[in-house]
Amino acid sequence: MEFEAVIGLEIHAQLATASKLFCNCPTSFGAAPNKHTCPVCLGLPGALPVLNEQVQEFAVQLGLATHCEIRLDSQFARKNYFYPDLPKAYQISQYDRPICEHGWVMIETEGGSKRIGITRIHIEEDAGKLVHDEAGESSFVDLNRAGTPLLEIVSEPDLRTPEEAKVYMETLHSLVTYLGVSEGDMEKGHLRCDANVSVRPKGQEQFGVRAEVKNLNSFRFIQQAVAYEIDRHREELLDGRKLIQETRLWDSERRVTFSMRSKEEAEEYRYFPDPDLPLVQLSEARVAEIRNSLPELPDAKQERYQQEHGLSAYDAGVLVASRETAEFFEETLVEGAEPKLACNWIMGDLTRVMNESGCGIRETRITPAQLAELTDLLRKGEISSKIAKSVFEEVRNSGKTPARIVEEKGLKQVSDISELGRLADELIAENPEQVEQYRAGKTKVLGFFVGQMMKQTKGQGNPQMINQLLRERLDA
Ligand code: ADP
Ligand code: MG
Ligand code: ZN
Repeated sequence: MEFEAVIGLEIHAQLATASKLFCNCPTSFGAAPNKHTCPVCLGLPGALPVLNEQVQEFAVQLGLATHCEIRLDSQFARKNYFYPDLPKAYQISQYDRPICEHGWVMIETEGGSKRIGITRIHIEEDAGKLVHDEAGESSFVDLNRAGTPLLEIVSEPDLRTPEEAKVYMETLHSLVTYLGVSEGDMEKGHLRCDANVSVRPKGQEQFGVRAEVKNLNSFRFIQQAVAYEIDRHREELLDGRKLIQETRLWDSERRVTFSMRSKEEAEEYRYFPDPDLPLVQLSEARVAEIRNSLPELPDAKQERYQQEHGLSAYDAGVLVASRETAEFFEETLVEGAEPKLACNWIMGDLTRVMNESGCGIRETRITPAQLAELTDLLRKGEISSKIAKSVFEEVRNSGKTPARIVEEKGLKQVSDISELGRLADELIAENPEQVEQYRAGKTKVLGFFVGQMMKQTKGQGNPQMINQLLRERLDA
């Protein structure tokens, strides 16, 4: 029997505000436990929450960027449950009147473009953190994170494969970082998701029973965990077992999910409107203002790179996927680089350096101006592409400009036609055997001559010219 997977993601994005959602405590990372707390985020009786305006603005920005309808009077609700990291015994969230609803984003996978529905985006606060000692005897509570603002982005069950789930998450990561709504640092947990997965026989309309895998904090884990769940569901169904709706966790070491608890229902949370907070009021004019101030988003940027710079959809897509990379590329153009060349270097050597050293594009020790200068030397034929690679490394090591390195080391490409011609004549005179082989049809021998010329010019001979000069002589 053929099966089809159905996947929906609930993504939590930590917002890039300086202070918490309902108090003035800082949201910064790494302070001593419970340093960043006050009566509000400690949940002391009588302390009243006051909404951080910036959060409302961020929510509207993301809502507009994902084509949502914006609710002008959304409401906070209490989600009640007990856990030691939640001193109030309720989380302030939004329930039946979230700030954004009914949106969508486009994702690009190998299979093409696909539209994924966004059910809702709502504002909520984060809980604190439990720290367990190594002996397993005591647990400690750190409430620095309690009250940190989050946006929860709930997708429609429109995703069908592990790859789509991963790309959808990447698309949202790109959106929130372009907007500056979240720093999007996955290692700090700024973006994490719960993946809901079910499987049904192909052709059946009704969804299967779903499992929810909690707290996936990397693109790779999402893809792996979803793939694991699909296989597990399929096997259970093929063995004739009944699946139960449950909440599971991902073990990234063993690469398996395991059951945490059976799924709780919404009514168990006894949601009700928070009487301490007024409706979140917005005017049409304010929404329009926010819409007009949105930055250029990845889709529009990709389109523009294709139109203005003649890049392929694929190349443009790679450049815009990260806001940092797109900004670097644009600065390189401002410095006068030719777009396609700049793009090739960014996607090639620069990306290799980033992957090797795990650093960002600004830490590669090559600036947009230096890259522009390097590509300019290449374009003018002053250095060969082989020499360009060594100049690239030298810029990173010494911090000198490409032009200066070429000058100091005498790396200029030899494009002197009479000098190269003289060398070619010599070589041909010295190697009659190879010449004969070539003329007998073993044209691969050309490589031998090119190699010799390159050796003699210390890699600085203009390769096109060398090829042409040799051919002229050998084919004569
Ligand atoms: P909750 O998890 O809080 O109960 P919902 O029922 O609204 O919330 O669903 C949460 C997520 O699960 C959404 O992203 C939705 O698309 C997805 N989802 C719902 N039903 C299924 C299903 N049968 N299979 C896969 N995903 C599902
Ligand atoms: Mg859920
Ligand atoms: Zn506080």
